[in-house]
This record gives sequence, C-alpha cells and structure tokens, in this order.
Amino acid sequence: MTTIDARPTPNFIRNIIEEDLKTGKYGKRVHTRFPPEPNGYLHIGHAKSICLNFGLAAEYKGLCNLRFDDTNPTKEEVEYVESIKEDVRWLGFDWADRLFYASDYFEQLYRYAVQLIKSGKAYVCDLSPEEIREYRGTLTAPGKESPYRMRSVEENLDLFERMRAGEFEDGSRVLRAKIDMASGNLNMRDPVMYRILRATHHRTGDKWRIYPMYDFAHCFSDSIEGITHSICTLEFEDHRPLYDWFLDQLDVHHPQQIEFARLNLSYTVLSKRKLVQLVEGGYVTGWDDPRMPTLAGLRRRGYTPESIQDFCERIGVAKRESMVDMALLEHCLREDLNKRAPRVMGVLRPLRVVIDNYPEGQVEELEAVNNPEDPGMGSRRVPFSRVLYIEQEDFREDPPKKFYRLAPGREVRLRYAYFITCVGVVKDEQTGEVVELRCTYDPETRGGDSPDGRKVKATLHWVSAAHALEAEVRLYDHLFLKPEPGEDGQDFRTYLNPKSLEILTSCRVEPGLAGATPGSRYQFERQGYFCVDPDSSNEKPVFNRTVPLRDSWAKVEKAQK
Ligand code: ATP
Ligand code: MG
Repeated sequence: MTTIDARPTPNFIRNIIEEDLKTGKYGKRVHTRFPPEPNGYLHIGHAKSICLNFGLAAEYKGLCNLRFDDTNPTKEEVEYVESIKEDVRWLGFDWADRLFYASDYFEQLYRYAVQLIKSGKAYVCDLSPEEIREYRGTLTAPGKESPYRMRSVEENLDLFERMRAGEFEDGSRVLRAKIDMASGNLNMRDPVMYRILRATHHRTGDKWRIYPMYDFAHCFSDSIEGITHSICTLEFEDHRPLYDWFLDQLDVHHPQQIEFARLNLSYTVLSKRKLVQLVEGGYVTGWDDPRMPTLAGLRRRGYTPESIQDFCERIGVAKRESMVDMALLEHCLREDLNKRAPRVMGVLRPLRVVIDNYPEGQVEELEAVNNPEDPGMGSRRVPFSRVLYIEQEDFREDPPKKFYRLAPGREVRLRYAYFITCVGVVKDEQTGEVVELRCTYDPETRGGDSPDGRKVKATLHWVSAAHALEAEVRLYDHLFLKPEPGEDGQDFRTYLNPKSLEILTSCRVEPGLAGATPGSRYQFERQGYFCVDPDSSNEKPVFNRTVPLRDSWAKVEKAQK
C-alpha cells in the first residue's frame, strides 16, 4: 500500500475529532470504546463499529477500550463474552489492559444514583410497568406525572436502599430520573434508571437485586473510563439529550456522543435478536455456521480479517441509513484472497477419464504454479496418470453452441498437463448416465503447450484418480432469498433460502492437500475460494466454499450509477 492510499477517507466523525483536537476540548486526547452487550455473537455490523472505534483511536494515537455492557443479567452469558473477545482479537484489534465491564461500576453507579436522589433529580416510583407506559403519553400527547414524583428525598433514599437490599418484589418499584413529563422527547419523560430484578449475574452473582438501565449505565460508564468520543448507532440520537442530562447533573467527565448509521447488508439480518432465533430454532448449525453474518461464521467460511477491515473502510460512515450489497463484501474478499490464496485443483463432481494411449502404471509429476499473482509463492508437483477425474459439467455429449469444453471428438487442455481428445463415452446401461470418458493424449503437449501452435478453446482442471484425496465440499448461497428479509412485515424466517447449503461428499482434490489445517484457504482453480473446515479429519478434509470466482460487484456498481 502506498502512503497516499493509506490516507483515511475524511468523514464527519474524523472532522469532529480533529476539531476537538484543535480546540483541546479533551486535552488532545482521543479515547473511544467498543461496548457490546454479551447477549450474542458479534456480526459484521459490529465489525463496522469495531473498525471505527479501534481504527480512530489508532489513527489519532489514542486508546480504545473493550467494555461489556452487561447490565441485563437475564440474557447474558459467559460464552458470549469469550466469543466477543476472540472475534475482536481475530479482526486485528487489541484493547491491551483495557477490558472493562459495566458491572464493575455497579457500586459507583449506585452512588451516582444516590447523589441524584439527594439533589432531587431522581425518585422511587411505585407505578406498575403498564402504568408507567400509560403515564408516559405519546409523541403527540404529553405524559402525566407520577403520583410518587413528589416523594421526599429521605423517603426516596430509604426506599432505594431497601430496593437494593431486596425487600421488594421484582417489578414493584423503580428509580426514575425527574426530568420533564411534557418533553417532546419521550426519553426525557422521567426515564427509569433502576429496576428490581432477582437474577444471577454472570459476574456479580446474586449480589445485586437492582440493575441499572442502559441509558443511565452507559453515559456514566463512558465518563468513568474517561472516554472522549462515544460513538454509537443512529437509534441513540434521541437518547443523546438524556446522555447529556445525566452527566450534567453531576460534576463528572462528560464525553461527546456521536451517532452514525448502522450497517445493513443485503440477503442477511444483522440483529442479535434475530440471529439467536436462527441458532436456537436450528435453522443453522450454530453461531459459527458459515452462512451466518457473524464474525465466527465469516471466519469459518474463509473470510480474512483484512478483507473485513477493507470492507469497513470502503463503506465509510454516514448519518443516513442505507443498504450495502453483499457483493461488495465478497468483492473485498476476492481481492484479498486473489493475492494470498495458493491455487490447487479440486474436482467437485467427478467424472472418470481414461487416457487410452497413456502407459498403464506410469506416473508423472507435473509442475503447477501456486499463484500466478505472486511468483514468490513458487510451484508444486501434481501427479498425472492414466485414470483421471474431471468435472462432470466440463463434458457435454451433445454440446450446445458456445460450449467450448470437452465433447466427443473435441480436444481440450488439461491444466499444467496435456492436450486430450475425447474418443469414447461409456454410459450406465440402466440410467444412460455418462460414467466414463475414453480419451487419448498428445505426448508432445506436455505442460499444456502444443509445439505446432495448435489451439484449444478450453483448459480444464483435473486430478489423478489413484492419487487424489476424497473430500467433502460445502457450497453456500445467501441465507435469505430476499435482499431485505422481513421488510414487508412478514417473519424474516419465511424468507430463509432452502438451498443455502449444498453438501458434496465425493469430491476429489490434489493429494498435496492431505493434512491441510482447518482455517487454511485455497483457490480451487475455476471453482472459487475454499477454506478447510474444523470438521475435517485426516482421512477426509472438509472444505467450505468461501466464494465462487465470479465477481458481481462491478455489475452492481454499474447498475447503481
Ligand atoms: P443488535 O441489534 O445486533 O443486537 P446491538 O446494537 O444491540 O446490536 P450491541 O452489543 O449493543 O448490539 O452493540 C455494540 C456496538 O456495536 C454498539 O455501539 C452498536 O451501536 C454497534 N453496532 C451494532 N450493530 C451495528 C451495525 N449493524 N452497524 C454498525 N454498528 C453496530
Ligand atoms: Mg444493544
């Protein structure tokens, strides 16, 4: 990468940070955070936020914290915490010693709440959750004040302490901020700060009987950590006045909240609430199913962290919601894999080929290039013998126009090997299916060149039957049939693609792939990029097709313009 290419594209967040650095608003510091709730695995939308927060910190020589927003004990699990740490690291970012949990601040948050009560800015309310909703009013009608709003500070302090002590039933009381029931912003109509909840927390156990609400916990967590720029998605724009209100009530550090549009990606869903339904309903094999838009799924599918980072930089940040085409993500991946993935030959649907004039028992080791994009990757030797496999779809007994591959009487090139001509077709007597081709080869064309300048119109990949390794290949298509599943109000699961996974169990690959480690990536010539799945055994590797070779992004881009 040249220095010019490496210069980040300007965006409104960079502009805000640069302005703050100029005025010294935060003493020239840039300190961001990535604050996931550990209630599911991270998805590609989170990657946008991770790249943004860690990326900006790195760019301005600042810091970025990883903070678990673990204020909701009923939905959170240790498994999620561990997966999130693994995924952030895999994406290429490092929080060093700055791993935090909102739950670490429960005691401090409690003290802040007490301070707010003391200054008459918070009160204990006995309305039921339904009543609170009713009293809140609507966008057009102002809310109604709670009859408990005028409780004395002493009574509020006493009740709040007893809430903490576990004297009251779940849901019987809440602590609310005393702001303005007539505010045009519903978030400002005396929002709930604490609720009573008897739930075991993954870190604090049964210590707490009350849990802080997101809006209250988040701004103060940012403040405690000395965050300067608190970057979040657009749906929190209406919460910013509340974020600022809480921090203004106390003499504490006050970060700047900045909102950007979340990533929406076509043919998938990016919401942990929906993704968890796919996992728990058995629609996919798990959070790391290669069809999932989770980082664990993309990793297993064969995506590289570099391609995801590149994608996140290219989509940029904006203030307006939009839908990004999946083809762009795949395009970024192909660009990256094209440079780094070694080429190999693998036959997905094998058709047996016997070379009649090739000596029985003879084996040649032919030289094959590992990556034409990168001569430094060298070459390897692949065995050639009398019986081979080619791809079923590379032969047509009765070829239509423009089908240039193998057909009776026709000559084609076998990659790195010889020209062969089809001289006979063997069929299954019962089904009529073509089960074997008889061919001849031209010994003068070794390496794939004809000395007499004879041309052929197709080059096929192949493997030697006796040497090839049997493999399983899993082919994937979009998880959903529609670009925006569920936008019509139907359950998003109605649009699951029944053909999103196709498993081929008797593929054949070059013998050199024996023992390939899970996670390693290859280009199978003409078939796409593949990644070794952890389900592989020594006897039989399993490959996930990451993406086919054909890139549809250029077409999409043209159509958009
Ligand atoms: P989901 O809707 O998937 O549950 P969330 O926003 O509830 O997402 P959090 O764990 O709270 O998930 O998110 C952590 C951070 O990631 C937040 O700052 C959030 O704004 C950001 N984020 C989540 N989804 C996206 C997205 N699609 N695009 C960009 N940022 C996102
Ligand atoms: Mg959330």
